Amino acid sequence: MELSDYARALAAANQALGDIAARRETFWGNPKYLPFDLVKGVCSLTVSQEDIADAAARLERFRPFIQARFPETEETGGLIESPLRPIPAMQRALEDAWGCPIPGRLCLKMDSHLAVARSVKARGGIYEVLKHGEDLALAAGKLRLTDDYACLAGDDMRDFFHQYTIQVGSTGNLGLSIGISGAALGFQVKVHMSADAKQWKKDLLRAHGVQVLEYRDDYSRAVAEGRKASDADPNSYFVDDERSKDLFLGYAVAAGRLEVQLRQQGIPVDAEHPLLVYIPAGVGGAPGGVTYGLKQVFGDNVHCFFTEPVLCPSVLLGFATGRYEKANVHDFGLSGQTEADGLACASPSGFVTRLDENLVSGCFTVRDQRLYDFMGLLHRAEDILIEPSSCAAFIGPAALNTWLRCQQYREAHGLTDRVMAQSTQICWATGGSLVPDKIWAQYLSHC
Ligand SMILES: *Cc1c(COP(=O)(O)O)cnc(C)c1O
Repeated sequence: MELSDYARALAAANQALGDIAARRETFWGNPKYLPFDLVKGVCSLTVSQEDIADAAARLERFRPFIQARFPETEETGGLIESPLRPIPAMQRALEDAWGCPIPGRLCLKMDSHLAVARSVKARGGIYEVLKHGEDLALAAGKLRLTDDYACLAGDDMRDFFHQYTIQVGSTGNLGLSIGISGAALGFQVKVHMSADAKQWKKDLLRAHGVQVLEYRDDYSRAVAEGRKASDADPNSYFVDDERSKDLFLGYAVAAGRLEVQLRQQGIPVDAEHPLLVYIPAGVGGAPGGVTYGLKQVFGDNVHCFFTEPVLCPSVLLGFATGRYEKANVHDFGLSGQTEADGLACASPSGFVTRLDENLVSGCFTVRDQRLYDFMGLLHRAEDILIEPSSCAAFIGPAALNTWLRCQQYREAHGLTDRVMAQSTQICWATGGSLVPDKIWAQYLSHC
């Protein structure tokens, strides 16, 4: 595949973009990264702290419904949240594999095990479905904000929601979260899936009564087709992964919850004890929303990095080229094809790349084979299985401390050896535990 003219010029001028075009792993430090105080005011015009608090309150209201519909949330009273788990054995395994020390405390944020959808999409996707359901029910006079939302699990409400359709374009996991939660309320759900979507994810959706439409093209096409089909039906609502503020808010709520978990585990976060977070990125919504929330809570004491496949670094390109949603991995001669199906988006979200452009610290790219290497290490060291896409997170702690080009970021932001030794590094496990056993066996044969 040929480079476009603009990509050729940028690849010659910028080292990280040169690496991208040459299909080498790289680190891109964000030259537009700014102290949070300088960014806060402008950002909050688009997404404010009140918006995030409103989303958190909505999820609180829905807890009785979630508990009623999803018995696995009985124990948490309808709260869908994942453990934050220290992974010292994985830390040692990474040190051995990379031949360098990984300082601080390494933790795994296990969205791979989130109730209902077993991926980070259980945050944004389910939130948006619930919000849409609430909007419809309120408008029809079938619900009041002060009601016990367990009433939404009744047959009459199911019939009410069944008049409406929700549609979404997905590489897999977003479809699963929208499909499962939409069907739980009673909605008809149509999921438009790209060629990268795994067969087992399609099968699982169909088993939930979801209509799956398949395209031989990439993700952007699936989204475009879904948007078109939905716009043509007045009773249909489209969950727009490339533009949705509600999805973003669902992800952002994670930050306040993480703050509580860190406090409960006695882990300090301040200038002397920074938090470093590594999140795999597809279209950018999940890592973008989580990052946005984390910056609101921890400001400059949190450093957020996105991780993407070498052949599909769309969010990195959206930021680094300044072309936002117009950036495309094909312009850099890349196929966009990757084993990390959850990250296979050729173009990023314009909404997220604009909103987070001064907040994200940088992006790493990682080769597909390493995803399996990380998967095997984690499996052997901690007996935890997460899907290849989410294993991209591990490039962060491994590379930040070894690659020469990451040194500049560390030096510029006071991340000295002493401070790093007191840091907490979190790899965000964005998906995994819904993978069928047969598929795990296939995955593990690559490790
Ligand atoms: C969707 C997904 C991501 C990234 O989320 P985006 O919103 O597409 O950036 C990362 N990992 C997994 C497993 C996912 O399913």
